[in-house]
Amino acid sequence: MSFSALGLNPELLSVLSSLHYLTPTPIQQAAIPKVLEGHDVMAGAQTGTGKTAAFMLPLIQRELAQVEPSKAIRVLVLTPTRELAQQVHRSVITYSQGLGVNSVVAYGGASINPQIEALNQGCEILVATPGRLLELAMKGLIDLSNLETLVLDEADRMLDMGFIGEIKRILKRLPEQRQTLFFSATFNDEVFALSKTLLRDPVLIEV
Ligand code: AMP
Repeated sequence: MSFSALGLNPELLSVLSSLHYLTPTPIQQAAIPKVLEGHDVMAGAQTGTGKTAAFMLPLIQRELAQVEPSKAIRVLVLTPTRELAQQVHRSVITYSQGLGVNSVVAYGGASINPQIEALNQGCEILVATPGRLLELAMKGLIDLSNLETLVLDEADRMLDMGFIGEIKRILKRLPEQRQTLFFSATFNDEVFALSKTLLRDPVLIEV
């Protein structure tokens, strides 16, 4: 199995070869074609499985396919912690290097002004922690009305950290018509309940 067999375009294939990624990991094999097709996905995956590329590569490809280069937020990735937000954002930068996709990371515990400035430069892919995202949205500093895809990364940790209220308030601000990708390392009743409110006819992936 090769990355090209998964439907990735030449620009991304050349990024992957420069990174020496030779073979897609199991979650990448399962998720990339489904995300490209626009399906909702519910995936059980630990860190280290290559899950970030599994959702980011197809979403970057979709951005590249936009006819008009856009400054609107199309993809929102929510993460439980600042560290994970930074790590996911580094991956976005790595996977979209030289491709002209704008991305921004926003998290709490740091000054909001540089984040606002970065957002004002244009942002198609926003990686954020729930509290800071809500703060930006409530201040009217971000427009989520053009959102196409929501990714919840490490949903179980978000619930453990008590973010359910924030997540629900964020959801109210997102278009109902969207793709949602739900990643969690573990599944309990609370995680399933959240996934049910978010996902429509999801493809289930367990690796
Ligand atoms: P993640 O599970 O997304 O945190 O990724 C774990 C690590 O695996 C990261 O350092 C990635 O750079 C690396 N990685 C992801 N996919 C591949 C792949 N197909 N081949 C080689 N390394 C990969």
